[in-house]
Amino acid sequence: MNFKNVTVAGSGVLGYQIAFQTAFHGFKVTVYDINDEILNKAKAKFFELSECYKRDLNATQEQLDNAFNNLSYQSNLVEAVKDADLLIEAVPEDVSIKTDFYEKLKQVAPAKTVFATNTSTLLPSQFAEITGRPEKYVALHFANLIWVNNMAEIMGHAGTDPQVFDDLVEFAKAIGMLALPIYKEQPGHLLNSMLVPFLISATELWVKEVSEPATIDKAWMKSFGSPLGPFAILDIIGINTVYNVAKLNVDTNPNMAPLLEKLDAEFIKPGHLGMLAGKGFYSYPNPTYASEDFLKS
Ligand code: NAD
Repeated sequence: MNFKNVTVAGSGVLGYQIAFQTAFHGFKVTVYDINDEILNKAKAKFFELSECYKRDLNATQEQLDNAFNNLSYQSNLVEAVKDADLLIEAVPEDVSIKTDFYEKLKQVAPAKTVFATNTSTLLPSQFAEITGRPEKYVALHFANLIWVNNMAEIMGHAGTDPQVFDDLVEFAKAIGMLALPIYKEQPGHLLNSMLVPFLISATELWVKEVSEPATIDKAWMKSFGSPLGPFAILDIIGINTVYNVAKLNVDTNPNMAPLLEKLDAEFIKPGHLGMLAGKGFYSYPNPTYASEDFLKS
């Protein structure tokens, strides 16, 4: 793996985290976004993020200064990619935006540049041809709060060069991730392939009034010593996102319609949108599932 210069396209929720994590681990990182105003907002967010690195990782000021020195900003795509060994795409989860981005990128990126997409729900094969370099295209999927939830799923498509795949696995390790190689293209990668059906099963028990959310969580937590049950996880994901995912599945799963209705009436309309909103299935900052007594009665 000979990557030195990394460009991160998109400085939103995930992009700025990927950029900082990569710079923190010694790579030269160019942050690219559509205009300077958005890039200035990203710069401000990096300072907030550096406080999290201090708090959660005991990062020293010297380490953080080095990370900031490794970062540069560019709203001109030609300049942003001219030296890139690796480009990580974190533009919005929208097929037309990603397609348009790759159409422009392929005209200006050097031949050596490997492209990686952070898409959560789309597949690399959907964009491989549009990139103009299918053999150098792969998915590199991070989790939100990358510095503490430090895992990366690496997934090629049928035409990805195995060397490129291996290089991405090495790169993921080099930026402090637990690297999780995936050998076949799979919608939802590893985590969401397991998580989504699990959460849907839990919500079905609730919608059919088989039991209460807290009781369903207790069954899971007590049996596996797990710190979280499915409804605590739904609160962390955020009820809006849960609602949107349920909506996407409404045509294929008849159980989604009553779930949408219940979520809308009991959570969306009253603004109980989960952990960040202070209330969801549980109340925050001290949800009952985190108390010592939760599994005692
Ligand atoms: P976001 O909307 O927060 O950020 C997207 C950024 O891309 C914005 O800064 C926007 O200005 C920029 N952008 C828009 N068009 C662009 C273009 N043509 N060129 C460059 N930049 C452009 O989105 P996000 O939540 O960071 O998601 C980005 C990607 O990461 C998506 O593919 C998403 O599936 C994936 N992802 C998100 C999460 C999450 O928790 N949010 C987790 C894992 C993966």
